[in-house]
Amino acid sequence: MGRRSSLLRASLAYLCLTATLAAQSGSTAWDGKLRELTQASNIRASVERLSARPHHVGSPYDKDNAEWILARFREWGWDAEIETFSVLFPTPTERVLELVSPTRFTAKLEEPALSVDPTSGQKSEQLPTYNAYSIDGDVTGPLVYVNYGRPEDYEVLERYGISVKGAIVLARYGESWRGIKPKVAAEHGAVGCLIYSDPKDDGFAAGEVFPKGPMRPPNGAQRGSVMDMPVYPGDPLTPGIGATADAKRLAVKDAPTLTKIPVMPISYDDAQPLLASLTGPIVPAEWRGGLPITYRFGPGEGRAHLKLAFNWDQKPLYDVVARLRGSTYPDQWVVRGNHHDAWVNGAEDPLSGLGPMLEEARVLGELRKQGWSPKRTIVYCAWDGEEPALLGSTEWAETHAAELQQRAVAYINTDGNGRGFLEAAGSHALEHFINDVARDIVDPETQLTVWKRAQARAIDRAKPEEKEKVRSRADWRIDALGSGSDYTPFLQHLGVPSLNIGYGGEDSHGIYHSIYDDFYFYTHFLDTDFAYGRALAQTGGTAVIRLADADILPFRYANLADTVRTYDEELQQLVKKKRDEITERNRAIADGVFAAINDPRRPKTIPKAEPVPPPLDFTPISRSIEVLTRRAVALDEARAAAAKKSASPAALGPINVKIAQAEQQLLEAAGLVHREWFKHLLYAPGFYTGYGVKTMPGVREAIEQAQYQTAPAEIARVGKALDREASWLDGITRMINALK
Ligand SMILES: [Zn+2]
Repeated sequence: MGRRSSLLRASLAYLCLTATLAAQSGSTAWDGKLRELTQASNIRASVERLSARPHHVGSPYDKDNAEWILARFREWGWDAEIETFSVLFPTPTERVLELVSPTRFTAKLEEPALSVDPTSGQKSEQLPTYNAYSIDGDVTGPLVYVNYGRPEDYEVLERYGISVKGAIVLARYGESWRGIKPKVAAEHGAVGCLIYSDPKDDGFAAGEVFPKGPMRPPNGAQRGSVMDMPVYPGDPLTPGIGATADAKRLAVKDAPTLTKIPVMPISYDDAQPLLASLTGPIVPAEWRGGLPITYRFGPGEGRAHLKLAFNWDQKPLYDVVARLRGSTYPDQWVVRGNHHDAWVNGAEDPLSGLGPMLEEARVLGELRKQGWSPKRTIVYCAWDGEEPALLGSTEWAETHAAELQQRAVAYINTDGNGRGFLEAAGSHALEHFINDVARDIVDPETQLTVWKRAQARAIDRAKPEEKEKVRSRADWRIDALGSGSDYTPFLQHLGVPSLNIGYGGEDSHGIYHSIYDDFYFYTHFLDTDFAYGRALAQTGGTAVIRLADADILPFRYANLADTVRTYDEELQQLVKKKRDEITERNRAIADGVFAAINDPRRPKTIPKAEPVPPPLDFTPISRSIEVLTRRAVALDEARAAAAKKSASPAALGPINVKIAQAEQQLLEAAGLVHREWFKHLLYAPGFYTGYGVKTMPGVREAIEQAQYQTAPAEIARVGKALDREASWLDGITRMINALK
């Protein structure tokens, strides 16, 4: 990966060039040109080609696509290669689901081809509907409906006196990441788990179903990974290291991230007879879905039989990695990625994001022919194996960890795209930067800037008392990142400043991870003319050029300090809310409220009194935030003052390395409790939510999981990380102030 021959050229550049530092994050002639040259028709053509056949990990077309992408990069003048890994990727050999008593029913487990949809009939190449990294199993038991299968759903079951011990649970998709459902079910003693798509969420209750409309048809099912990714993503056999050919591997039986019980996704057509067989109490209103049946908890007379077996082979991964060498700082990398593998044809996920990324790469190559030469090295990555477990990105990031922590200045991720609003999430030091980019992108439907539209939506969505704050803040707030795509290893394992961007919010659909996510569907129901595909390429490409060419990297730490303050406030509120709720409930128990309101014909279990959480002292965090805020403001001022100076690349180089490594000060080598792979103390996917971000996860989860005795140590760890960050920023300020 490292390319030594660049050193000579770089040192010449150091000697010859000085630059005034005026345009630090604003528009340049080259990024304006990129926005002009970007074409929707090219995006359409690459999405059509790449989605022409199913292309999951290990399939012939997955490799074919990787080779096609490689050839495009080379044609556009990039220095490109395919990097391969070998990973555990199970595919099903046997899938049986039947109701064995009192009536018999055998689930179809099959998505039918539709004559209007030309690629839906490619049966021989399609993976069947299944959940990857479920263990093998052959279980029979009563069925219990568990709503979304979150921990709080089991609290409801407990109040109704219903146990899932020895049962096969039926959970609906939604609310939590799918891998959480079997994890929580197994913790409660279930022996199997079925996950179905309820029509209320993405089927007929939400709109016309495909092919008449975009919602999920009766036999559509959502494939997907159920690996315990909040513990660690990537190859389950090589935690923390790259899955190269000679890597030391765990035995499959020892892999901690496989499920504990067999799991399978099913359609609502297959789920209906199972749900209809349940007896027992009627579920509360929030638990009811859209099927024309009475939703009950179960268990009933009915017993279900679930049998699953998988092929546990290693499969190859093909990551396409392409570079444009930087002329001034070749050892500083701007990294950009989107995955290329799909569950089936994957026009929406991932190709609607990959198509724009390839268009960026084409135009960057074109700009270089026209005389542009990026100051930093640009690295574009088309990842394989994102769908099963962020495999390609994680294994690559683990393999090149030291190099990335030394050289990567930022990672920009996309993963699919649609019509609507710019959505951006990630490192808050990049918040101001992506706001500036958004101010220069024109929304194709309204001709407003995409910044204006995003901010308008934020105002519209804000609570009445928050609206003024949203309106008056200079930058539109970006969200923090949990997990669910390839930024995870960069941000949460390595501390590379990261952003995830995409457009969406105007179309909903029910074809996610099904055979119907294909070119026909995308061009009929989503960004049909790829106008937002073009907007995404303009957004990603503009961001890459500005990061690659900035004299001083355009990070703004006042945004970080301001956001961290909101996390601190949220946690303090959370503790207060917990204390109030438990105090009130204990009082109600002591006063006999639950006993007095119980319906003797439908009695519920009376909850047990719980210890009231202790008040927690957040001073170590709050005090550190004060210091961080002062240091951040001082640095931002130093940067602004530096705009009038001129400095040589030799003087700027080390400043930029230091800026890029600021995010790493928020990591801790020991990682989070019970999951050391996750090193970032500000952001992690929730242990019991999966996708959803937990900010200051160590502290937050100590509170949420009532591990109060560990909270003070977690608070101290975050305080120390913020102190490290503050003194790191101080170091950067001093370096900038020393510029002549
Ligand atoms: Zn994806």
